[in-house]
Amino acid sequence: MVEAKNLSMKYEKGGQYALENLNFYINRGEFVFFVGSSGAGKSTLLKLIIREIVPTNGALKIFGRNVGRLPRHRLPYLRRNIGMVFQDFRLMEERTAFDNVAFAMMVTGASRREIRKRVPHVLGLVGLHDKAKARVCDLSGGEMQRVGLARAIANRPAMIIADEPTGNLDPGTTLDIMNLLRGINLRGTTVLVATHNREIVDRFKKRVLYLENGKLVGDEQKGIYAHVH
Ligand code: ADP
Repeated sequence: MVEAKNLSMKYEKGGQYALENLNFYINRGEFVFFVGSSGAGKSTLLKLIIREIVPTNGALKIFGRNVGRLPRHRLPYLRRNIGMVFQDFRLMEERTAFDNVAFAMMVTGASRREIRKRVPHVLGLVGLHDKAKARVCDLSGGEMQRVGLARAIANRPAMIIADEPTGNLDPGTTLDIMNLLRGINLRGTTVLVATHNREIVDRFKKRVLYLENGKLVGDEQKGIYAHVH
């Protein structure tokens, strides 16, 4: 589902590698943490996966296609199949929870009927069935991220990418959000999470890819945060 072959990324000619010669394979249905200190290259990797940027060298295959060579008209298909979750939520704060999820469906061409049926369903999946009409700005941080999760799964993507999804949340709420991501994964969606959160990584015992200065220095099943060389 995600395959990196000698994947390298440099933002500027003659500059440092943000990612250098990465090789890994992620299967459909996996749950994977990307860990590494700030500047290690986690965000760069996520941006490459959604083809926000193009690799300098090597290949990155997503859903079997080399995204570096993906023609522009295939980009909507790629992005529709990837649900994004952000540290800062990136919601329309003045709009309701319902509207935020509905909008994500509307832009992919879903019908009003589908939207009316699906939005309450996904809000229910994240435990927000009674908050559909609440404006996002009136919700707690944890509830906002639940809306973020509902939006991410609304179009039934094959994969969810979460970039520090709990970076702005307290420990209890963090656990709730991570448990929801685990539930989404158990229903068959591939989940990739970039995080600094040591407790969560150690607790979940999922596959961990360790980045350090742009290099992949570890890849462990049931990993813990502290990688030993
Ligand atoms: P992380 O997400 O792990 O904190 P990043 O992927 O943001 O790491 O950064 C990896 C490296 O790439 C860092 O050295 C960073 O300074 C550099 N970098 C990231 N984005 C850009 C950019 N737009 N232009 C130039 N350098 C960048």
